[in-house]
Amino acid sequence: MSRDLIERADRTVAATYLRHPVLFEKGQGCTLWDSDGKSYTDFVAGIAVCALGHAHPGVARAVCEQAGRLVHVSNLYYTKPMVELAEWLVGHSFADRVFFCNSGAEANEAAIKIARRTFYEKGEPERFRIVAASGSFHGRTMGALSATGQEKIRKGYDPVLEGFDFVPFNDVPAMAGAVGPRTCAVLLEVVQGEGGVRVAEPEYLQAVRSLCDEKGMLLIFDEVQTGLGRTGAMFAHEHYGVVPDVMTLAKALGNGFPIGAMLATEAVASAFGPGAHATTFGGTPLAAAAALEVVRTLEAEDLPGRARRMGDYLRSRLEQLRERHPIVRQVRGKGLLVGLELSVQGAPVVKACMERGYLINCVQDTVLRFVPPLIVETEAIDGLVECLDEVLGELQREP
Ligand SMILES: *Cc1c(COP(=O)(O)O)cnc(C)c1O
Repeated sequence: MSRDLIERADRTVAATYLRHPVLFEKGQGCTLWDSDGKSYTDFVAGIAVCALGHAHPGVARAVCEQAGRLVHVSNLYYTKPMVELAEWLVGHSFADRVFFCNSGAEANEAAIKIARRTFYEKGEPERFRIVAASGSFHGRTMGALSATGQEKIRKGYDPVLEGFDFVPFNDVPAMAGAVGPRTCAVLLEVVQGEGGVRVAEPEYLQAVRSLCDEKGMLLIFDEVQTGLGRTGAMFAHEHYGVVPDVMTLAKALGNGFPIGAMLATEAVASAFGPGAHATTFGGTPLAAAAALEVVRTLEAEDLPGRARRMGDYLRSRLEQLRERHPIVRQVRGKGLLVGLELSVQGAPVVKACMERGYLINCVQDTVLRFVPPLIVETEAIDGLVECLDEVLGELQREP
């Protein structure tokens, strides 16, 4: 059955992904089951999306109840879940206003647009350039892609959007040298996720904030992957005491229900008046009801705190692997956004772990990334570490 479905998918679905030949049918917490009934412990979580785990009863209930009441009416009107979600986000962050959309890329599009519009409104339309980091990832739409500091992602889409300058991550002098009178904003991830789990240094973010203040530029944090508890704080920038002007969210916000958000201070948000930006589905009652349940649960169960503790435990266990296996170069990350860099290709490790019932993924060819649901237990971590121990051991025994 699954073989037939996989073949049918490969004939009809756009071939933009090299998928693993497995078909998942259900999930529960940190466990997934494929069509053969085989179970897997999930350290991917839909790529840092399912923070509360699979089939979360609260989210399921919120979605079902809302679906039976009102799914969508358009942003021409008011709806309650959106108001409550906006209030929660504003109440738990530096921001004063929220623009809702449907994905991380769209949230970053909104951030890019609001940065340009802010200076347009100030009578400085020539001030439209944005400095971003090499190795960054901001999404696949034309604007977000133009802000992404990876050749392989921009390849074939020239001319990309004008006005982006790239500097090495964690390099203060490079940043200071790249900003100019036409720079309107700096756009950074607090931890580069797709870029190989690279954590910003505190001095770096502090220096960039000062530079932005000095030059009157906006600081935008892309917290699409790091936001909402993943790194051990509700938002990753809280670890640093550095406050941005704009922040983007998506991945964990709906626990799998698609929703994104761009948050901004009042001073910036005022650039988005009626008609300045829009999206049909943004903040629709169904998505907002799902997200409201997610954020309330994150807070009620202190999942950021749990991510911090479990992340510390996972990293300490992975450090033990580094001592035992010379092909492990480095363990890094924050909270439950963890990377393990190998001196060899990671794909065979991902495959071997999958055969043993553990889902992990690999970024930048050699970095294994672990982003489990924030509800992950120590037993699951121990199981993963044992599995990796075997797989890495076998890999090193091969000639
Ligand atoms: C995943 C991701 C995006 C893109 O989100 P989509 O929902 O896939 O458009 C943007 N920025 C970061 C940091 C991400 O991790």
